[in-house]
Order: sequence, then C-alpha cells, then structure tokens
Amino acid sequence: MLKRISLGLLLAVLLLVAAVAVKTVVTPSQQLAVTPAPKLDIDLQAAATRLSKAITFKTVSSLDEADANAAEFDKLHAYLAQQFPKVHATLKREVVGNKALLYTWAGSDPAARPIALMAHQDMVPIAPGTEKAWSVDPFAGEIKDGFIWGRGTLDNKGNLFAQMEAIELLIGSGFTPKQTVYLVMGDDEEVSGLRGALPIAELLKSRNVRLDWVLDEGLLVLDGVLPGLSKPAALIGLAEKGYGTFFLSLDTSPGHSSMPPQHSAIGSMSAALARLEAHPMPGGIQGVAGQMFGALAPEMSGINRVMLSNLWLTEPLVRSQLEKSPSSNAMLRTTTALTIVRAGNKDNVLPGRAEAAVNFRILPGDTLASVETYLRRALANDDIKIRQYPGNAEPSPVSSTDSAGYRAIQQAVRQSFPDAVVAPGLMTAATDSRHFSLVSDAVFRFSPFRVKGEDLARFHGTNERLAISNYGEMIGFYHQLLRNANAAPAP
Ligand SMILES: [Zn+2]
Repeated sequence: MLKRISLGLLLAVLLLVAAVAVKTVVTPSQQLAVTPAPKLDIDLQAAATRLSKAITFKTVSSLDEADANAAEFDKLHAYLAQQFPKVHATLKREVVGNKALLYTWAGSDPAARPIALMAHQDMVPIAPGTEKAWSVDPFAGEIKDGFIWGRGTLDNKGNLFAQMEAIELLIGSGFTPKQTVYLVMGDDEEVSGLRGALPIAELLKSRNVRLDWVLDEGLLVLDGVLPGLSKPAALIGLAEKGYGTFFLSLDTSPGHSSMPPQHSAIGSMSAALARLEAHPMPGGIQGVAGQMFGALAPEMSGINRVMLSNLWLTEPLVRSQLEKSPSSNAMLRTTTALTIVRAGNKDNVLPGRAEAAVNFRILPGDTLASVETYLRRALANDDIKIRQYPGNAEPSPVSSTDSAGYRAIQQAVRQSFPDAVVAPGLMTAATDSRHFSLVSDAVFRFSPFRVKGEDLARFHGTNERLAISNYGEMIGFYHQLLRNANAAPAP
C-alpha cells in the first residue's frame, strides 16, 4: 500500500517536472526580428557639444513660483532656434502658458492620425548639501571621459535634444512625415505639469486633435539590472501609477499626564498606523507586471526562466521573492508609505490631537476611492478623520501593446538597440504624459538611456551624465521611430 502511494507520488512529481520543463522550453520569444537601423550621417561630437551647452541654462522649475528662472527658459528657447534652423523653418512653434513649447510638423496626409513626442525643459535643483559630491560643476555642461555631464542630461534635455537632432537630420534628408507630428516640451514637469503639459493637452483637445499615440520620457534600457537576464531590457511604460496622499487626524480631550486615560491620541493613532503597515494592499504578478514578466521570461536563462515561465505553479513563490525588494514590490501592488506623524509638544501634557499622512502609489485597477475604503478598514478606528490631498491623481489608463504606437516604438528600439530585448512595463513615478490621456488612448513612456544599476541614482541625484555613444543611439532611435511611423500601414 505504502509502496503504491509513493509510486503514485513519484509519478505525479515526474509529470509536474515534465510540464514545467515543456512550458519553459515552448514559451516563445515575443521579440520582433528587425534589420538594425542604418548608421546616421551625423557629427556626434558636435551634437554632444550642442547638448552640453544647453546644460548651462538653469531651467529649474518651482511649484509655487510660475515665473522662476524665466530668463533661463528664454535662453534655452533662443538656443534651440539658433542650433536647429531647419526645425524652426519647417515646424510651427507656439509658446503655451509660461514657457512650455508646442511644435507642429504638418504631415503630408491629412487623413493620417497625428502623433506626439514629449520631453521636458525643466529640471530639479541640486539637493542642498550635495554640491560637493559632484565630480564636475552640474551646470557647466562639461564633456569628459566620453560623457556629457550635468543636471538635465538624463532628465530630460537628453530626450529633448535627441528629438531635435533627429528631426533636423530628417528634414535635411528631405523627409516629410505622413501624419502630423507634435513636439510637446513642458516647462514644469518636475512640479506637476499643470502649467505646461496639461494646457497643451487641453489646447490640442480644443482643436479637436486626437493623437494616434504619444511617447514621453519613461522607463529605460536596463543593463544588468534584472536577475537572470544577460541582455539589456528596454522597458516601454504602458501606464503610470496614481498618487494618493491621505491626511489623518484623531482628536481626543487633552489632559494632564499625571492621570492619563487608557488610550491616548498618540497611542490610538500609532496602533492604527501599525495595523495599516502590517496589512499592505493585495497584489500579485498580474496586469502590466504580468505582461512584463511574460515578455522577459523566454529571454532569461536558468532558474529565473523556469520560475517565470511557470507562474501557474510558481506565482506565490516568485511573488514573495519580488515583494522583498521595494522596487519590484512597487510593480505588484498599490504601495502604502507612512510619511508624516505629528503629536504633542510638552513632555507632561497629553496632546488633544494626533496627525499623520499616508502616501499611496496606486496601481492601475485601484482608484483613490478604493484606496480610501481600504484605508478606513485597515485603520479600524472610526474616530480617525481622513482628508485627501488636493493634488492626488488616479492611475493612468493602461495603453495597449496591440497598437500602432507600441509596434513602432518596439521596432525602433530593436533597430537602435539590437542587443536589447523589449518588454512592456509600469512607471512607478509620474510624468507629463499622464495629462495626455485627454487626447490619446495610446500613451507610452520610454527614454532611450542605457543604464546600469548604479546609474539609477543619477536621476535627480549626483553626477548625472549621459554617454556620448548612448546619445548617438538616442538620436538614432527617434530618427528611426519617425520613419517607422511613416511606414506603418494606415489603420
Ligand atoms: Zn523627467
């Protein structure tokens, strides 16, 4: 009897192993086969010098001061006009709001649906106290060791200038786009986009413009960052998470600390916050994260490939691994972050009020309303009042990979980064592109930067820099993308 059971068990295990092995091997690659883009006829050193000079304009945006650094933005505008004469002779240029720019490159076919490329002019400041940690002056626009250095090279003048270079080249070669191409260059992306990208989206809407697709800055070409993947992964963002801050307050009667009640404001608020942190919102390898791992699994090797090709069996195990790292955990769920707590101001007085703030980054599928419902339940204290921050935003819609835009971008990535594999991904940060769901169903987020793990801290951080060789690939990418858009069959 025992022998029969163990024999049956052995058979079951063998079948399972066979099923896992078969699934691992037969899951097909989703990568497009392409011929690499032809080499561009461009003086890359001269292009790098043009970008480096733009780093000297301190176009730092400010949330409260719409006019901050206005003169620096004006200098950038004049510089663009001077450096890209063909672009400025061919495209219509409008200044929207304060210093945001909208360029219109009229297409040859009025029936073709227009597209938009986005990048932003503004930058974050240097964090006070970190100036000394830079190996160069962050606003000098230095070129050194094969890199263009300084604040804004990655975020986001690299994209903006690469687009300008690509279009200047295309015009020079006699190219005209079939569909109208808009260039959208916000001046306050780092502080919300409400004065730049949003009014431009509204302006387009008022002109009855519906965009076939939009490409903004976003996810990157990650080299050696994803475990089990030897090739670089170019991730195209299909969506970005929402932003939800909730202010909590709990009022009790203040009193003397010599006769404390059983539950103080501080104790009750702390207990509620501890309950909240102990119960993260449910998550899993689904939605965009599921699409991402589905595209990457066939490109992986070893145990990672086996595990990700067999999520039907391994999901709980893989998920618990991913949950251990804050960056991959953020792809799986709406995250909960306790960011402010405030109560009391004298050691022998019981405060009458305890306050806290919780910041959620909301996964597509959840909403501000569903997060608030969850929050109330998790706090489990009806005396706590909840108020929403006015700047909260719902997650963006999820753009489809089955769209002309995704295909054109995917193809251009494979042509310009032949060593990389492409997969959809989820942006956990906010970009200007979220305002463009107003005028398009297909909004994508991708920046053609090659980055290694240690480079991620350069965004908004110290020693921001862009390799000149990578800058050449970026120009090639946008150049190829516009050609791909022309070649796409009419919808
Ligand atoms: Zn940016």
